[in-house]
Parts: sequence; C-alpha cells; structure tokens
Amino acid sequence: MTLDNSPERRNDWLQSYWMPFTPNKAFKAAPRIYERAEGHYYYTSEGTKVLDAFSGLWCCNLGHRHPKIVEAIKAQADELDYANAFNFGHPKVFELANVVADQFPGDLNHVFFVNSGSEAADTALKMAIAYHRLRGEGTRTRLIGRVNGYHGVGFGGISVGGMVNNRKFFGSLLPGVDHMSFPYDPATQAFTPGEAEVDVEPYMRELEAMIALHDASTIAAVIVEPFAGSGGVFVPPKNYLKRLREVTKKHGILLIVDEVISGFGRMGSPNAATYFGVEPDIVTVAKAINNGAVPMGAAIVGKHIYDGFMDASAAGVEFFHGYTYSGHPLAAAAGLAAQEVFREEGVYAHAAEMSDYFEQAVHSLKDEPHVVDIRNIGLAAGVTVSGREGAPGARGNDVFLKTYEKGVAVRANGEHLAIAPILTSGKAEIDMMIDAVRAGLRATA
Ligand code: PMP
Repeated sequence: MTLDNSPERRNDWLQSYWMPFTPNKAFKAAPRIYERAEGHYYYTSEGTKVLDAFSGLWCCNLGHRHPKIVEAIKAQADELDYANAFNFGHPKVFELANVVADQFPGDLNHVFFVNSGSEAADTALKMAIAYHRLRGEGTRTRLIGRVNGYHGVGFGGISVGGMVNNRKFFGSLLPGVDHMSFPYDPATQAFTPGEAEVDVEPYMRELEAMIALHDASTIAAVIVEPFAGSGGVFVPPKNYLKRLREVTKKHGILLIVDEVISGFGRMGSPNAATYFGVEPDIVTVAKAINNGAVPMGAAIVGKHIYDGFMDASAAGVEFFHGYTYSGHPLAAAAGLAAQEVFREEGVYAHAAEMSDYFEQAVHSLKDEPHVVDIRNIGLAAGVTVSGREGAPGARGNDVFLKTYEKGVAVRANGEHLAIAPILTSGKAEIDMMIDAVRAGLRATA
C-alpha cells in the first residue's frame, strides 16, 4: 500500500500510529515516509532518494537489504518460523552464540539472547544483582551509571541512564542508583578529534568516593557506554575504560559495558572491549548483531558469571528471566548471515580504514555557522550546534531538517547532530553526507 500523501487523506493514514521518540504532531504535518531501501539509500513515498547517514538507527551497519541477509530470512521463514525459547532450541541460535562470543575478548564466552538493547541492559543489571546474591553477597544491589548515559527505556535502563528527559516523567525509578560524571569537559575537550589526552584520575576519584560512601559490599555493578551514543557522541579520554575496569575489579564490582552501538564494527573494531583492550564482566549488544533486520539483542557474559549461575542451577536455582522471542529463528538466521558478511567482506577493517578520512571530513565543519563542538570515534560523530535562546536544541532539529532537504538523513538529539555512516561507506558517501550537513548548517538561520 502506498501512502496517499494528499492533505485530505494524510490525516486518516497517519493518525493511529503513536510514533516513538518523535514529535508526533510535527511529523504528521510533514511526514517522512521510507517506502524502500537498498544499499546506502532510502527511497521515500514522495519519490526522493535519501542517503542513510545514520545506518538506520545505528543498526544497519552493512547498509540495507544485503542479499545474503534477505535470503537467510526468507529461507528461515520457510523452514522454522518459531521455536519455543524455553526448554527448546534450534540450530542457528547455538551457532550464532558461538560466532558472537568468538568476537569478544577473554572469557566473554556465553550469550543470553533478548530482543533489543533495552532488554539487554535490564537483563545485564538483573544478572549482576542475581550473580552476587547467588555467591552469598546479596547486599550488592546498588548500581552506578553515568550522567548522559543511555541504556534503553526499560525501568532498569532509565534508572542507570543519565538523560533527564528519559527519566523525569517516570516516577521514582530503581532505588540505590548513583551516576558518575561524564568524562568530558568542553572547556578543554571541545573539537578534539578522537580520544582526548586528559587525566582521567579525577573521574576515578569520584567513583572511589561513591564506593567509599556506600561501601563496596553494597554495589553490584557499574554500567557505561564506551562512548555516549544517543547522548550526542561524546568520547571519553584515553585510558578511561581501562581505569574503570581496574577500579571496579579492585572492589569486586561488575563492569557492564553497553555495546549496543559500538558492537559489530562502529569503532572500526569488532567491539569496544577489543578496541580498548578491556574485558568487562558483561557486555550488552543489539542493533547491528543482525544488521537491524529482525529485532535482537544479547548480554554476553564472562565465564565466571555463567559458571556462577550453572552451579546454582545444579542446586535447583535458575536465572528466572527470558523472553518469548529470545533467540528467535528469524533473528538468528539474519544474525548468522550478517556476521558472515562482516567477516567475508572485511567490514570492520574497512571501517577502521575510513575512520581517519571521516574524522577529517567531520572536523572540516568546525567553522560553519552555529557549530560549537565536534567529536568523533571510528565511524561515529557528533556535531553540537548552539541552541536558540529559550529553545535549547531547536536549532539541532532545524539543521537535521535542512540536511534532510539535501537528501541526507542524520539524527538530531537536542542540540547534538549525530552522523553514523554505513560501515561500507567510501569517500564518496562520506563527502556527500558532510557536504549536506554543511549545507544544512548554512541554510539554518
Ligand atoms: N543502549 C545503547 C547504548 C543504545 O544506544 C540503545 C539504543 N540507541 C539502547 C541501549 C536501547 O536499544 P533499543 O532501542 O534496541 O531498546
């Protein structure tokens, strides 16, 4: 069915759907409807071609409708549409667990499948608290997140998350949660390409003080993103994650790293754990695990965590957690196909190769109108524009719309624009997206 975009019909067509994280009224007055996609492009109901400069929503790292993924989903639908996820399995989910675990360092060997990044975060938090309890440390229930962090929209995720709008409407949230400062000071770090060389010890001292205040014996886990993605692509200084690992380990606190964005190539590495040479206790992933083709996420856990639960299982206690669609056959089939493409086409290495070019391209926007900061890592970048007086963030949306008029889709979150090229992008695609953002900035009053 094609959208009848005439003003009379538009209202009927658009009204029932309550859109997520979207100003519904404004959208429905001027909708953007993607009807088809191929490779690096979307095609709209109005017949325009749009360069996808955001990999869908950080998820289509291989671009759209890769023939191998399309074929795998079709074949799977034809063979096994669904298998009861509890007490039954199917071959592809076991195979995918192996393929995914192989990409993570050290003992991160076990994969618990879920259906989204939000579910992955809540799963990881529950695992952390339950793990301590099973080991006789049931007092370890507190959680530490970070300001400007995003871990999805479940109650666990928004409790440890640090984005005010995602929290303030929803009551008292989980008790016993603290937030570390985000390790970014625009006064010294603005416009720094990649990771800044800044002393991270003040941030470690802050964490140590938090731990001392509550006592380590009450703290289950620290959860962070390797870089803040949804918060505007803010990149911690060099050594930050390594030091965070050291401090958490010293106090017996689990480190959960949310790799929903950084997993599967975004940083030009299989994942941030590999990139930073850090082995967290639990890593969460979603999105590009299967190129966003079918909803899927996962918590990848260290052997010690898995073994802890297995010992309990032998004594009759399970991890009472899971979803009807955990490890769904269609998602798993898409996952295996996507992982094969990442490997066969050398996609992570290509992304790493393009990172320098992308860095230079995005920082070339420095002197454009409204730009007050630019940050990047791998194939991810954030461009902050000055807000309009009395309406912070409004200009970010204006630039997003002006850039879209030039045929390129980026994302605006408040005053931050985010660019996340499809990992197979070459110089031509990168030039096209940066030129469009430049034009968008110049066209914005
Ligand atoms: N964690 C991070 C770091 C994310 O970026 C996101 C989504 N942008 C999520 C969790 C939530 O994922 P989902 O929208 O699939 O629930």
